[in-house]
Amino acid sequence: MAAYKIIDHTYDVVVVGAGGAGLRATMGMGAAGLKTACITKVFPTRSHTVAAQGGIGASLGNMAEDNWKWHMYDTVKGSDWLGDQDAIEYMCREAVPAVYELEHFGVPFSRTPEGKIYQRPFGGHMSNFGEKPVQRACAAADRTGHAILHTLYSQSLKHSCEFFVEYFALDLIMEDGACRGVVAWNLDDGSLHRFRAHKVVLASGGYGRAYFSCTSAHTCTGDGHGMVSRAGLPLQDMEFVQFHPTGIYGSGCLITEGARGEGGILRNSAGERFMERYAPTAKDLASRDVVSRAMTVEIREGRGVGAGNDHIFLHLDHLDPADLELRLPGISETSKIFAGVDVTKQPIPVLPTVHYNMGGIPTNVHGEVLRPTADNPDATVEGLMAIGEAACVSVHGANRLGTNSLLDIVVFGRAAALRAAETLKPGTTHKPLAKDAGDNAVARFDRLRNANGSLHTSEIRLAMQKTMQNDAAVFRTSKTLAEGCAKMEQVASTLPQIKINDRSTVWNSDLVEALELENLMDCAQATIVSAEARHESRGAHAHEDYPDRDDVNWQKHSLAWVENGKVKLDYRPVHTYTLTDEVEYIKPQKRVY
Ligand SMILES: Cc1cc2nc3c(=O)[nH]c(=O)nc-3n(C[C@H](O)[C@H](O)[C@H](O)COP(=O)(O)OP(=O)(O)OC[C@H]3O[C@@H](n4cnc5c(N)ncnc54)[C@H](O)[C@@H]3O)c2cc1C
Repeated sequence: MAAYKIIDHTYDVVVVGAGGAGLRATMGMGAAGLKTACITKVFPTRSHTVAAQGGIGASLGNMAEDNWKWHMYDTVKGSDWLGDQDAIEYMCREAVPAVYELEHFGVPFSRTPEGKIYQRPFGGHMSNFGEKPVQRACAAADRTGHAILHTLYSQSLKHSCEFFVEYFALDLIMEDGACRGVVAWNLDDGSLHRFRAHKVVLASGGYGRAYFSCTSAHTCTGDGHGMVSRAGLPLQDMEFVQFHPTGIYGSGCLITEGARGEGGILRNSAGERFMERYAPTAKDLASRDVVSRAMTVEIREGRGVGAGNDHIFLHLDHLDPADLELRLPGISETSKIFAGVDVTKQPIPVLPTVHYNMGGIPTNVHGEVLRPTADNPDATVEGLMAIGEAACVSVHGANRLGTNSLLDIVVFGRAAALRAAETLKPGTTHKPLAKDAGDNAVARFDRLRNANGSLHTSEIRLAMQKTMQNDAAVFRTSKTLAEGCAKMEQVASTLPQIKINDRSTVWNSDLVEALELENLMDCAQATIVSAEARHESRGAHAHEDYPDRDDVNWQKHSLAWVENGKVKLDYRPVHTYTLTDEVEYIKPQKRVY
């Protein structure tokens, strides 16, 4: 192995990721006096959170009566009873102060005529325990994530947190089962860095890019998931991948559910508002898994629109153009650019598109990463935390409700900061690291940098993305899943044949993509193998050979360990209890909208 010069750093806490989750944690830790570093592969305000459109959920009750207990009920129901109810209680209760906190930090929310935060309806959010849609999504027009991310970044600069921008985190430093830090590569000058910390917080986002068509940024490559897998820790509930009903046909760009919240309607080739048949009460505002399946059935049965009868129309053309300009300016522009459509006159061609990963790194409500054992399914890993889309708390269970992720990232970003402040004294001395600490990360970097096989990263990546798109789709069968597992194993086995053309260490995007591909591959394999094993349908996992939810055998979290291209599975119980006795455990019911 070539000799690399390594630059050492010491912090109380290191946060990997500067999306909404990472910034909220960084800010809180800095405010608590902890010496905090935030490492990010893109400039903070370019993180995928910036693309979030529709809103952040909180039962402020600005438009009509609302209650956090109704929000909790909707989230449990949305999760199809796979979510942990202690965590869901925590999130929905904390939602209200979290949104006011954002308001006070300076998020420019849209306003009602009386000056309160504007709220719109969103899928699956109902009043009075599922009665009728309620306006719960707090919105800054259709650029809510943009507003939140920029505000959190400016807030985090107030404290003396240090940012390492365009640093790519490679791997965790693990010693005797505890996390002691992280190794990162400075993309700009090629140097390698060893960050020693009492706690590492993974806030590295989702892995939408394991699929061919997704709404997520090119940076959503499951890097935190990969690091955790390589550290011998499991990923949880990876089979639950959310397809958003309205990605623009062809490009996959997102049209927010807020478009339907503002009155948008889906129609098939007969011009029928078909959601009335599938969800008589909530109609177009049923939860995402329900709408995506309904659209897929319409297309399969020959009622799709367009030359290939292979997509659906979203109509906004019956709405007041002034409202569209005020409430949905971003998606009006996106539709023009990516579909060539004037939304005031024409429908938008849309298709269910991969959007969100419910699964991820298992944690408790404090953001502490779990290493479940037979005796203790909630045992934690010393020194390691995870938050945001990278984590699985699990508040979203088998299906996330829209607006609950922006909420998740700020609530659990804050919770992680509170936990770090509670358990760590600023400036606590560090044990010396082992002499070879981080060598595994450097060896991996060096191996890929010099990889001289016969396949380009893009070729292997495309094979992976196509397999996931075809075989771990909206609807799944035993046959497609079994074939998909075999194909994914074959695709993963080609990784050692990777070829890198650029051997430099400065802004080597060829190497970045190869490192990301290895991370994505672990995610893809964990997803499809966990899906193949789950013999039921629940939330986003719609298994045609097992069309019903099976609470007796399957109300449990999947755990997947990926090692050398093979996946090992186990399970841990869902938390069927609440955090306080202010609310009771909501027992499984049939899920209708
Ligand atoms: C188009 C779109 C619209 C959405 N709209 C909504 C909405 O309206 N409401 C809602 O609730 N949710 C919405 N979501 C979901 C929500 O926005 C995301 O789940 C959430 O923002 C994720 O935040 P995060 O902080 O976990 O990760 P991200 O914002 O993805 O940030 C990840 C961070 O990790 C860093 N990182 C990753 N890997 C590395 C590495 N190896 N080294 C260093 N840094 C690394 C990146 O640089 C980045 O800073 C939307 C998602 C999309 C894609």
